[in-house]
Amino acid sequence: MLQLSQRIPHLQASPIREILAVIERPGMISFAGGLPSPDSFPQLRTDNIPERMLQYGASEGEPELRAQICRDMQSIGLDCTPGQVLILSGSQQGIDLCAKLFVDHNTPIALENPTYLAALQVFRFFGARFVELDPMLPEVALSQKPPIPFCYVIPTFQNPTGRCYTSTMREHLAEACMQRGTVLFEDDPYRDLVYEPCERRPICSYLRSGNWIYQGSFSKSFAPGLRLGFLVCSEALVPYLTRLKQAADLHSNRLSQYLVLQQLQDPQREQRMEQLRMNYLQKRDYFAASLQQTLAPYAEWEVPAGGLFFWLKLKTNTDTQALLARAIDHGVAFMPGEPFFYSRHDEHSYIRLNFSHANETAISAGLTTLGELLSQTSTRT
Ligand code: PMP
Repeated sequence: MLQLSQRIPHLQASPIREILAVIERPGMISFAGGLPSPDSFPQLRTDNIPERMLQYGASEGEPELRAQICRDMQSIGLDCTPGQVLILSGSQQGIDLCAKLFVDHNTPIALENPTYLAALQVFRFFGARFVELDPMLPEVALSQKPPIPFCYVIPTFQNPTGRCYTSTMREHLAEACMQRGTVLFEDDPYRDLVYEPCERRPICSYLRSGNWIYQGSFSKSFAPGLRLGFLVCSEALVPYLTRLKQAADLHSNRLSQYLVLQQLQDPQREQRMEQLRMNYLQKRDYFAASLQQTLAPYAEWEVPAGGLFFWLKLKTNTDTQALLARAIDHGVAFMPGEPFFYSRHDEHSYIRLNFSHANETAISAGLTTLGELLSQTSTRT
């Protein structure tokens, strides 16, 4: 008989990765994953890669890349040294390492509801118990007894809602973490994709004491296939996270690290990022206008100031899984909102729509189809 670990019953399939398999079908219009636009990828120079990059490397990552990231972090207000920077095989790995470090069976974690579903998948696997964090009143969750040891948030262009904390909300959360000794884990993969002035200062930079992890990703601003991200953490956590990284994969792909470092040190870097933001701003606005034409009778939404998603609240209570099945039959994919919630929420139904991947023709066609399907959808009882 196959004897699996006691954790395995907590291992759930990732709804998003299952939908991503479907969207590979030719002709499918996808608003499902957070896929960057195919024309946003940088021109990578692969001709001069040094041979030493084919050798095993340091678990912490390439020293030059860590130093560059450290400078970038200092420029956004995070006080750190290169020794506090750890390169990750995608920022998804940071979630896994932190879960291993902080979560036992029944460990309470404070997090937003809804939140990033692949983080829920990891935390659940390690047996976490979820405590809802209201970003307007963080002290309510964090003052619970027994104390909450760990808090996971996406304060800038949140996935799935696209919302961004104000500076007051950031200060309050930092204050609550310091008062209660809660470790703050700030996940920040979307900060570079900003289309309107918006507070983005890392909450970790407000902390004057306690432990913290801030992480970023090169998936959205460079290329997700490189599988590269990074974390910066308080000094006390460095040895633990380094050993967990060693045990997980020895080190991240050195070719990817080399290519990303070249991009970060490219004199055209800022110009390229500005171009990317302009392209996505245009796409966001096109998407917003198409939404207005097609889905206004059926849903409400806010136009996000950054990131890659529109979060729609449907006006009638709808079975979004059944809607997805019908949409896929009509060649359109999206993310139902339910998997992003870990506990009961209000009686409304939600869907998340990505605006970066599809081109304008596909956006119009896909949203028209969704509008038609919603017009035929009966209310869930
Ligand atoms: N955190 C959040 C909030 C995300 O949305 C994502 C990807 N969509 C990740 C982490 C993981 O990103 P990656 O592993 O590609 O860096």
